Amino acid sequence: TTEFTIDGLKATVEGKEILKGLNLTMRGGEIHAIMGPNGTGKSTLASTIMGHPKYEVTEGAITLNGEDVLEMAVDERARAGIFLAMQYPSEITGVTNADFLRSAINARREEGSEISLIRFIRQMESKMKELEMNPEFMHRYLNEGFSGGEKKRNEILQMLLLEPSVVILDEIDSGLDIDALRIVAAGVNAMRSEDRSFLIITHYQRLLNYVKPDFVHVMMQGRIVKSGGPELAERLENDGYDWIKEELGIDD
Ligand code: ADP
Ligand code: MG
Ligand code: MG
Repeated sequence: TTEFTIDGLKATVEGKEILKGLNLTMRGGEIHAIMGPNGTGKSTLASTIMGHPKYEVTEGAITLNGEDVLEMAVDERARAGIFLAMQYPSEITGVTNADFLRSAINARREEGSEISLIRFIRQMESKMKELEMNPEFMHRYLNEGFSGGEKKRNEILQMLLLEPSVVILDEIDSGLDIDALRIVAAGVNAMRSEDRSFLIITHYQRLLNYVKPDFVHVMMQGRIVKSGGPELAERLENDGYDWIKEELGIDD
C-alpha cells in the first residue's frame, strides 16, 4: 500500500504565490479527483509535486510512504513512482517514443536489471494495442505532430508501462472524443490497485462517469476548499462554482 501526503503546501511561480496552503492525503487504492476554475493552480500543483524547477516551494511538506519528496530531485521522484500525465505534453524532436519510454522504464530499474529490448517491444506493442494506437507511433518522435488526443493516449501509454504508484492525470480528458475517452478510462481502470493512488485533475464530470473517484476535491485560489464524494462532481457540473464561493465567502 502507499500513502502520499501533501501538508500545508505553498508554492510560488516567478515570485507569485499560487499554492496557498494545500492539504491532501491519498492512500493506496484510492482515486481522488480535483476540480476547480481555470487559473486556480491545479497544474501548478502537479508540476510542484513533480519538482519542476519553475515552481518554488516556500512552505509545507510532501511525503510518499514517509519519505520526503521535496528533498528528491526530479528523476528521483519519477524513480520513487510518481508520474504525471501532463496537460500539455512537450514535443521532443530526435527522440523516438520507443527510446523515450525504454529509458524511462530503465531509469526506474537497478543498474544491471534493465529491460531487454525484446521484452520492452513486446510490452509496448501490447499496451499500444490496448489503447488502440497505431504501431507506427512507436517510431515517431515524442509527441511531434501528434494530435491532442494522440498526445493524451501516449501519456496513458507511459503510465501503463511505468506502473507508477502515484499517478497524476492533468486534464487527460480535454480534447478527447468519446471513444478515446473510453479507451483512456479503461487504461486507468485497468491500473487501479491497492498500492496505487490516482489524482485526476479535470474540469468535467464526464471522465468521472468512466473512472469512479472515491473523493472529489474543489480547488480554489490555491487550496482545496471543499471535499466530498462523486456527487460533488455532479453538483459542480450542474451548478458551477458560485455556490461554493458563496458558502465560503470567497469573492474574486
Ligand atoms: P489551472 O491548472 O488551475 O488552470 P495553473 O496552475 O495553470 O492553473 O495556473 C495558476 C496560476 O499560475 C495562473 O495565474 C498562471 O498564470 C500562473 N502560472 C502557472 N505556471 C506559470 C509559469 N510557468 N509562469 C508564470 N505563471 C504561471
Ligand atoms: Mg487550466
Ligand atoms: Mg491546468
